[in-house]
Amino acid sequence: MASTYIGRFAPSPTGPLHFGSLVSALASYLEARQRQGKWFIRIEDVDGTRCKPAFAEQILTTLQSYHLISDDKVEVQSQHHPSYQYYLEQLEQQGQLFPCNCTRQSLQPFQGRHPHICDSHTDAPHSWRLKSCELVYQYQDPIQGTLIFTDDLKNTSPILKRKDGYFSYQLAVVVDDHRQNITHLVRGADLIETTAQQLHLYSLFNWTPPELCHIPLIVNQNGDKISKQNHAKAITDGDITTLLCALKYLGLKIQALNMQDALDQAIRLWDIKRLKGQSALPIQPQDWHL
Ligand code: GLU
Repeated sequence: MASTYIGRFAPSPTGPLHFGSLVSALASYLEARQRQGKWFIRIEDVDGTRCKPAFAEQILTTLQSYHLISDDKVEVQSQHHPSYQYYLEQLEQQGQLFPCNCTRQSLQPFQGRHPHICDSHTDAPHSWRLKSCELVYQYQDPIQGTLIFTDDLKNTSPILKRKDGYFSYQLAVVVDDHRQNITHLVRGADLIETTAQQLHLYSLFNWTPPELCHIPLIVNQNGDKISKQNHAKAITDGDITTLLCALKYLGLKIQALNMQDALDQAIRLWDIKRLKGQSALPIQPQDWHL
């Protein structure tokens, strides 16, 4: 019987692919392949101020050089604005949004909580925020265990559409994962903090969320996520040593001479449960150059 599993890797093109992203891409790919499912790549370039088409192209070239190729056309979020607008309006009609013209500075004294004192000034340029609520969400993460989000929705009113007209990641990721029938998310543990809001959006749209799994983050010597923000290096295209090293962090010790052989072995040996209970993997001194 054909598998109904559909996974995806959804990089934001704010820089070239770095080692931490390769590990995430591989984890989602291996899980999809092992479960005989499909694996899609989606470019999350919804933030037009930080994302660049050149980085998107570079990321796709790098993924291809590691034989990580989307089973379907690569979706690009910047081509789906009308769909985000449609769902934003659905939420507005449900009374779940409020217009906001606060600045980061004006919100500073409220320590993350939104004071809801800006609602009436809708003539000025404004963003659309999701109303906070008392709901508690929870789910069973195959790696991180039971995750219960008690205060996440009480304390935040995330922006779904910015003052400058760009939609937020939170809205776009939910709309796209639903539209593409994604059944499983395997992604970095840094995204756990976005999960309650995404589960809430699924519930407001009356959609079933994908099954969620958060793999440990690759962190540097200071315990910080390897990311574009802390100047992670671009990985070299098609480098077998880098691939084997990334697989090692996913619990797979593989010896192979070429990319496809390494991936085939990895698919056979892959067991996501090996990562159970881990939320961060410090990069080892011999791999600091990556
Ligand atoms: N685009 C997000 C990022 O690059 C990942 C989104 C996700 O996997 O849900 O951090």
